[in-house]
Amino acid sequence: MLCRRSFCLLWPALVVLSACAADRAPAARKIYIVTDLEGATGVYKFAQTREPGNPLGREANEYLMHDIAAVVRGLREGGATEIVVLDGHGSQAFVPHLMEPGARYITGKPRPDVLWGLDDSFDGLVLLAHHAMMGTPDGVLHHTQSSRTENRYWYNGVESGELAQVAAVAGHYGLPPILVTGDEATCREARAFFGPACVTVPVKRGISREAAVLYPFPETRAALVEGARRAMAALPDCPTYRIATPIKAKKTYLELDEKGAPVKEATKEGTITDVLQLFSF
Ligand SMILES: [Zn+2]
Repeated sequence: MLCRRSFCLLWPALVVLSACAADRAPAARKIYIVTDLEGATGVYKFAQTREPGNPLGREANEYLMHDIAAVVRGLREGGATEIVVLDGHGSQAFVPHLMEPGARYITGKPRPDVLWGLDDSFDGLVLLAHHAMMGTPDGVLHHTQSSRTENRYWYNGVESGELAQVAAVAGHYGLPPILVTGDEATCREARAFFGPACVTVPVKRGISREAAVLYPFPETRAALVEGARRAMAALPDCPTYRIATPIKAKKTYLELDEKGAPVKEATKEGTITDVLQLFSF
């Protein structure tokens, strides 16, 4: 009797609650992850990121896979139903036997597009193990596109790193950045470009370009799982990042001789009419 009465009392409230949950449930569930390597837990020197064949490079790739696994787990727990992970590091860094289930992994070159497979069916963007733009004093392994030629990019007068570049292309398809992981400087750059709703998870703090205070794996793993879960909840509040077109673009870089030694600094200026052409400037 008591049970039935309490059921009756609770029932209308439950109906209201579930209706509210249905209203608020994000339709957004499909997530596109772009990885890099310089911003992974435990990575702090170029010997780890430029030579995939050596033991340091192989270890660094494994570090990245652990960070990916934690983020995939957290996104799943947060309600992601489909996850695609793109290997965004130049020399490619995925270690297939360490792939966390619950996602699909894109790797290998050549690919017809820098962000292959990205389209407007996705709901949110994750920038995982990324790094701060060229010239960031406390940015671990900071660079933009090429660390050897020290490229720098300005779009409509705003100096932009890889975070903004990837997010601007994703913005074309309507995806907001919901989570950024890397060092503290990367997280700071993400907040400056994407606003406070985008979740950031720092995995180390830079001292200089190749020196860092590293955070231990069990701690970053827990923070990445929790951050990814939080990012799914934050998704509806995250704005897309867009650069107004036509884009007035400028790039500076070092010209190298055959031995790779810098000869002089060069500048390129021009107009990008389609944001999808951003990476070919
Ligand atoms: Zn990069």
